[in-house]
Amino acid sequence: MTADDIPPRPLSGACPVVSDRPSRAEAEAAVRTLIRWAGDDPAREGLVGTPDRVVRAYEEFFSGYEQDPVDILHRTFEETDGYDEVVLLRDIRLESHCEHHMVPIIGVAHVAYLPDRRVVGISKLARVVEVYARRLQIQEKLTAQIANTINEVLQPKGVAVVIEAAHQCMTTRGVRKAGVTMVTSRMLGVFRDDSETRREFMALIHNRCGSGS
Ligand SMILES: [Zn+2]
Repeated sequence: MTADDIPPRPLSGACPVVSDRPSRAEAEAAVRTLIRWAGDDPAREGLVGTPDRVVRAYEEFFSGYEQDPVDILHRTFEETDGYDEVVLLRDIRLESHCEHHMVPIIGVAHVAYLPDRRVVGISKLARVVEVYARRLQIQEKLTAQIANTINEVLQPKGVAVVIEAAHQCMTTRGVRKAGVTMVTSRMLGVFRDDSETRREFMALIHNRCGSGS
């Protein structure tokens, strides 16, 4: 099956369909191959347990394929009771993996929305970030997926998502630009159409009270 054969799913939160998932033993064998490719001996004492540990780590890093963020929000939203101010969750720790090199993307996400009728617990917003982050990603797509899912399910007046992250494929290999972060944003509704609302959001995420930064 190629990527083109994967049937489209109706909502942005749905996972890609994998029909021929390899067994755990096959995954561990692949890790042993990579160890040999790197130039070491997978039978060496220090490396014997490594394929098992790597596969377990992958289960954690990529657990987002098992979950649907649309479901997470759908199950939990409530009516607003008239609350109509911006809800902002700032500095959500973000750990993802770049789909080009499979190395970490580490940073923070800021997520805001202006409710219309529905609100959701802030822990659920953080969960949406986490589920999409625990897949192979590029930062632009991750940013858009988070914003689009909140927009689809909560149908707010607007959504704003900003991600600031360092890519280890840039900092530890290739051009080796340490300290460089990439910033991506996705603005929908009032955050896109109303420059004043957008400015307020940007000020909220960048003017940290008392931190001086
Ligand atoms: Zn990369």
